Amino acid sequence: MRDDPRNFGPRLDRRSLLTGMAALAFSAAALPVPASAMPRGPRKPTVVIDAGHGGHDPGTIGFSGSLEKDVTLMAARELYGQLQATGRYRTILTRRDDTYLGLAQRVDLARDVNGDLFISMHADSIGRPDIRGASVYTLSEVASDAQAAALAQKENRSDLLAGVNLAHQSREVSRILIDLMQRETKNRSAVFASGLLPELARHTALISSSHRFAGFTVLTAPDIPSVLMEMGYLSNRQDEQLLASAAHRSRIAQATVRAVGRYFSQKEFLRPL
Ligand SMILES: [Zn+2]
Repeated sequence: MRDDPRNFGPRLDRRSLLTGMAALAFSAAALPVPASAMPRGPRKPTVVIDAGHGGHDPGTIGFSGSLEKDVTLMAARELYGQLQATGRYRTILTRRDDTYLGLAQRVDLARDVNGDLFISMHADSIGRPDIRGASVYTLSEVASDAQAAALAQKENRSDLLAGVNLAHQSREVSRILIDLMQRETKNRSAVFASGLLPELARHTALISSSHRFAGFTVLTAPDIPSVLMEMGYLSNRQDEQLLASAAHRSRIAQATVRAVGRYFSQKEFLRPL
């Protein structure tokens, strides 16, 4: 239904909206910027790394009792260190220690720091201890449709899209702008996910259909390409042992750093969308 142009009247087509978005982005770019806020040299992409769970939320509990929240924090810190060591990124951790952070808070934080890429790190579990391997999730179509509807209904939309103020737009126009942005965000998320999986496969087993789609709240930023990485199954003895090993977490981080590097080598994947 959202693809039906009749919903938006005869004079409102996607091309004119895109032109309008470009004009808005241009006018925002033309605003004077204080010298102190001027970036020096090319902007570094901002990568937000999210260690799943934390605090009173342990996440899943492993075959031998390891806690997902600890595994994700150690893996996130390792990835943070390796990304920072390249000197090519501004890297942000959503949590640095064993504290609880709500799911929406993680998304808000990523948007507050103008993230260019959001990577949420998790480990899975399942009733069958023989199942093991990594997978990468991006936002499902159904979930993003629901999110678009919810966002378009929000009263305070003024900060929703970078450089585009939705506060004075009709609900229909807001909905189209959000939809366009979400499509691009989903495309970029899929590009990163499909580059990450073969890198992970060099170091760890992957489950079948390793690129998966779900409605995880942490994937719902409309303007930040986002993936959720399940690094393996803590319910599997071998995966649990691997994830407990610093050397293995380092290899997962190396794989992710390579995928991040390849992703941002495509210059169009830097903002603005
Ligand atoms: Zn988890």
